[in-house]
Amino acid sequence: MRANIDLSSALTEARARYAHNNPASRAQHDRALQVLPGGNTRTVLHFDPFPLLLTGGAGCRLWDADDHEYTDFLGEYTAGLFGHSEPRIRAAVVEAMDRGTLLSAPNRDEAELADLLCTRFPGVDRLRFCNSGTEANLMAVAAARAHTRRNGLVVMRGGYHGGVFMFKDGYNRVNVPYPYYYARFNDIDYTTALVDHHAADIAAIMVEPVMGTGGALPATREFLEALREAADRHDIALLFDEVMTSRVSSGGAQKHYDVTPDLTSFGKYIGGGLTIGAFGGRADIIDLYDPRRPDALPHAGTFNNNVLTMAAGVTAMRDIYTPDVADAHNQRGEAFKERVNLYAREHGHPVVITGIGSLLCIHFNHAQVKTPADVHADIPDAAALCHLFMLEHGFYTSKTGLMSLSLPLDADDYSGFEAALQTFMDEFSEPLRRAA
Ligand code: PMP
Repeated sequence: MRANIDLSSALTEARARYAHNNPASRAQHDRALQVLPGGNTRTVLHFDPFPLLLTGGAGCRLWDADDHEYTDFLGEYTAGLFGHSEPRIRAAVVEAMDRGTLLSAPNRDEAELADLLCTRFPGVDRLRFCNSGTEANLMAVAAARAHTRRNGLVVMRGGYHGGVFMFKDGYNRVNVPYPYYYARFNDIDYTTALVDHHAADIAAIMVEPVMGTGGALPATREFLEALREAADRHDIALLFDEVMTSRVSSGGAQKHYDVTPDLTSFGKYIGGGLTIGAFGGRADIIDLYDPRRPDALPHAGTFNNNVLTMAAGVTAMRDIYTPDVADAHNQRGEAFKERVNLYAREHGHPVVITGIGSLLCIHFNHAQVKTPADVHADIPDAAALCHLFMLEHGFYTSKTGLMSLSLPLDADDYSGFEAALQTFMDEFSEPLRRAA
């Protein structure tokens, strides 16, 4: 038990130990610094003192350049649902590769994958593919703006919808320059008043039903229902960003909450782990992209229907992440969350896992964590310290505590993770309690 240390000093110690234990990762980082700003080409992957160089993975295991092995509880921020090198997905990709990949034409798999997704998600009559979740949101918003002939977007303060829709601190200089109206997640009165007041300029309300990057914060059903009603009142398009959350039930968050959006964006795992995005929704809105129409909206993208992703996606969604598997997987996640939370409660640790099913986040906080403002009050340095501690004990998570559970994780993996996290809570219980 580390009673006489504060979290900031413990973090400094942990970083020094991490640097010492990972010389090959450091050497790679130093090389990358010459040509990539900060040695980085994807901001979220950076952490101090330097990120690990991972050299391979299989199932739910990962290896780094210094020969450490990890059990993967991050799951590529939800894209890694199937684990690493899943054999059926691998076979589908190899077979597609052998058939020829750059055909300059529609292929059979794109319609099949679209069919699987339209059948699965209640709000999706029709859908189009693209290459990332960011693109999916861009094209869904474009459809909403064209459909409503309005410009503005209601977004949640603290929300994240991709590289050009970042609202952690309100507006961000990299964002698409649309008129934004900043609502408060899970605050019905504030948000509906905002929508009612600005309705004439609002094309869409964009919301992630479980804020993922924001800290795995589930919306209340009442909040989503209030958004649905406000959107209906003013003919505004309700856009659910289900890039992450579509995995939380057999029909996404929209089925879990029984609230049907007009538009849905997808990404991450639906391509079996290959590059993908998709946006869909009501036929009368998405059909704006029908190229046979004289007033069609264009939708370009060389790799929108790329053969490898479409083949991997069909295998992933038809043969692997079936509705039954989705439900069972999310039940495992719920049970895991409850076990950790029970332990923390019983021992008085200021620790809680939030989220739904297989999309979870560890928070260090005595209070309930329901909104981005609550996340703001998480104990400083605790998540960063826990991250390095868990790495040292062989578990790969994110620096913010975000986890997404992959299918290959078995009962021993869960119990191993729980034991390591319990050790962390017990070892640092005094400094955590003092800081809470
Ligand atoms: N929306 C949400 C909710 C996301 O979590 C992400 C990615 N983390 C995106 C959109 C963007 O997806 P991509 O990284 O594929 O552009």
